[in-house]
Amino acid sequence: MNTATARAGANIALVKYWGKRDPRLNLPAAGSLSITLADLETVTRIEVDQGLDADRFELDGRSADPRPVAAVLDLLRPAGGPRCRVVSRNNFPTGAGLASSASGHAALVVAAAAIFCPQMGSGDLAAIARRGSGSASRSLFGGFCQLHAGVAEDGSDCRVEGLEEAGYWPLEVVVAITDAGPKAVSSRAGMNRTMATSPYYPAWVASVSADLERARRAVADRDFDELAEVSEHSALKMHASALAAQPGLLYWNAATVACLRRVRELRDQGVGVFFTVDAGPQVKAVCLPGQADRVAASLASIAGVEQVLRSGLGPGARLVES
Ligand code: ATP
Repeated sequence: MNTATARAGANIALVKYWGKRDPRLNLPAAGSLSITLADLETVTRIEVDQGLDADRFELDGRSADPRPVAAVLDLLRPAGGPRCRVVSRNNFPTGAGLASSASGHAALVVAAAAIFCPQMGSGDLAAIARRGSGSASRSLFGGFCQLHAGVAEDGSDCRVEGLEEAGYWPLEVVVAITDAGPKAVSSRAGMNRTMATSPYYPAWVASVSADLERARRAVADRDFDELAEVSEHSALKMHASALAAQPGLLYWNAATVACLRRVRELRDQGVGVFFTVDAGPQVKAVCLPGQADRVAASLASIAGVEQVLRSGLGPGARLVES
């Protein structure tokens, strides 16, 4: 096969991933639990081109640095194998805290594996996706999944567990975009700085397994109030550890905070909604089925909210053409 196209949805961690136990193998310091989105997605096409002497990468219609993509391709193609033209598009802002690195690397790995390693199992695929971006392995799965950090030095027990498919609990997500530009400090740089300098980082790592247990149970029981509590706690705690880094990482702006307050006001009024925020200024409001219209209208009315995106839960990364 000389060309392959794959698509993958972004995923949002409800129990956050923040920090690594091995930067070289990109192994997380703690586990995470996420939902995969249907409508914020990456489509990536790879074409083998025997005439190229180096990989080419086009992202969102512009030529981009091919080195991170080449590093992932090198994990899948034979030594000295052919170079590739990789064309990828995210249908949402790139590098703005909306998990483009996750959907981008998941789509890349699924398309590259179809060309170079069609027999590869899902565990090996997940390990390679994780090397590209720590959260990418979660976008290989749909619905709800958990990334287990593991303890093995070689990362062999760092694996993703699919918990439930998207249709099991059709939650909806409203994303309030408060600044679509790329963030000043990438997730990778931000978590490294937090690990190296934040006095709260050890407390963060020590507390994640209890959050994972709570969130798993909440998903299994479809207990929205419990999932809301543990998810907001995990997000705020992650940002607290980052705020305490030196220099402190402040990913939020005024509209971010206004959205967090609005989500809590809505919940007090009986609307089924909770928030989560990743390394960036956007707020993701997770809604019970039937509540997203009201949440989207309310968040869109806040000063500083540039755009509101909506998505249901979706499937894992997949090939769309061969
Ligand atoms: P996350 O929320 O997962 O941290 P993000 O979108 O907020 O992701 P970064 O962590 O800064 O931002 O990651 C953005 C980087 O991910 C981009 O600079 C690019 O290198 C890579 N990336 C984004 N989209 C794609 C894609 N479609 N294909 C390959 N790589 C991508």
